[in-house]
Amino acid sequence: MKVVIVGASFAGVSAAVAVRKQHPEAEILIIEKQNDIGFLSGGLHLYLQGIVKNLQEAVFIKKEQLAAAHIHLLLESIVVDVDTQQQLLTYYFRNDKNFLTYDKLILATGSGQWSHKIEGSDSPRMIKYKYLADAQAAIQQLQQSQSIAIIGGGQIGAEALASLLSLKKEIHLFESMDYLLAKYFDQEMVENVQKDLSQAGVIFHFGETVAAIQDLETGVLISTQSQQVQTDCGLFALNIRPKLDFLDSAIQQRTDQTIVVDQFLQTTAKNVFAIGDCIDLENSLAEQRYLPLVNNAVRAGLVVASNLKEPILPFVGSLRTIATKVFNYYLASTGITEAEGFFYPGEIAVTELEQLGLPFTSKELIKGKLIYDKRTHQLLGAQLVSKLNCLEKINTLALSIQTKQTLESLMQNDYFYQPAFSNVLDITNHLGASALWSEHHEN
Ligand SMILES: Cc1cc2nc3c(=O)[nH]c(=O)nc-3n(C[C@H](O)[C@H](O)[C@H](O)COP(=O)(O)OP(=O)(O)OC[C@H]3O[C@@H](n4cnc5c(N)ncnc54)[C@H](O)[C@@H]3O)c2cc1C
Repeated sequence: MKVVIVGASFAGVSAAVAVRKQHPEAEILIIEKQNDIGFLSGGLHLYLQGIVKNLQEAVFIKKEQLAAAHIHLLLESIVVDVDTQQQLLTYYFRNDKNFLTYDKLILATGSGQWSHKIEGSDSPRMIKYKYLADAQAAIQQLQQSQSIAIIGGGQIGAEALASLLSLKKEIHLFESMDYLLAKYFDQEMVENVQKDLSQAGVIFHFGETVAAIQDLETGVLISTQSQQVQTDCGLFALNIRPKLDFLDSAIQQRTDQTIVVDQFLQTTAKNVFAIGDCIDLENSLAEQRYLPLVNNAVRAGLVVASNLKEPILPFVGSLRTIATKVFNYYLASTGITEAEGFFYPGEIAVTELEQLGLPFTSKELIKGKLIYDKRTHQLLGAQLVSKLNCLEKINTLALSIQTKQTLESLMQNDYFYQPAFSNVLDITNHLGASALWSEHHEN
């Protein structure tokens, strides 16, 4: 079996490694248009925060590791045509046109930091940094700039602003929603984070959609529906989208260019699969279905390997579990927000509380919120915010949602107790109990 994978990032590499494990006889080939692999999309943040000393350290895999697993890598090779009838790819290695046949094709072409909606978004003064070369160029540009406009207040934008604050820059953040991280948190959960960031000097422009970016001699002019702001440069932290105009029409795509796949990650063309940022996830709890996250890409890569010969393992989809650190705050979220409850077919209820995370070793509170089905008590979403690192707890809550736990069982989840490392009642048990108590009280 000859398995060809297009794209050697999180999804493609994960699929290649899993195919090698499950199909030792397979010939595996990955085609990648970059000249190297493995750079972490948020590598620039790690560098700016001093977590890595140079960008080359910000990688999750090296090409030697793939070679050791007998996975062949074609770098600097861009796929320009997919013919699903003849099971044939056309690609360019530098300027040379080449052809490649496949038995099974896995599309893992991801997404890019581009926007056709913002005029002038290709300006060289608008920093994009998903790939190593761009991130390298970004460092110099950021160093030379005193004022920076960040476009987008999601996870990427929030992390970028926290990284740039430490460099003492003037930061403007433009976000069309009304508050920071609005996709993942309800407003009251991030109020303190925003207040502290404003006090530290960040200038927020919420409810402002950037329509155009104009290059000036000494900077960029950012235009929204209501104002114009000039800064030395801009930084793209936008919702990212795939660009897939080279696929043949047998591979059905949505209007946003994402590839349609079934639960086994099969596209509408025979022997063609798609994973990672180039698909959207129908089986997500959230209203939003395009969920470009590393964990989705990696898990889909593992699952697709099981389905190459026959469809046996459905992909469970995504709860949109995220966690991050912004300024002094650890923030984590999974499942739906209260605001998204509007789209949920049943009636939702919420509970919120604050408790000391580690009473004997820290004075920091953890603020937690739980969203659940009011009738069945099934868990739907959770959010945690604290100055204490409580991020791992979101994985427990995500698992509780994934395994369809109710308030009654969440309250009883079995955890260790050791006074230096935990609380007598863990906040996740406490959230379950608190929701039940408020239901009793209401009744
Ligand atoms: C700045 C930034 C920070 C982020 N931080 C996080 C984070 O902390 N946590 C998180 O979960 N997610 C994060 N994300 C999102 C995350 O990067 C993506 O979800 C992830 O990269 C998806 O992996 P993928 O393999 O599907 O696609 P991609 O990483 O986009 O990779 C696709 C690969 O395919 C190649 N390719 C595309 N077209 C072709 C072609 N025609 N021929 C050959 N090769 C091709 C590309 O060169 C690329 O290497 C971040 C994104 C950005 C931009």
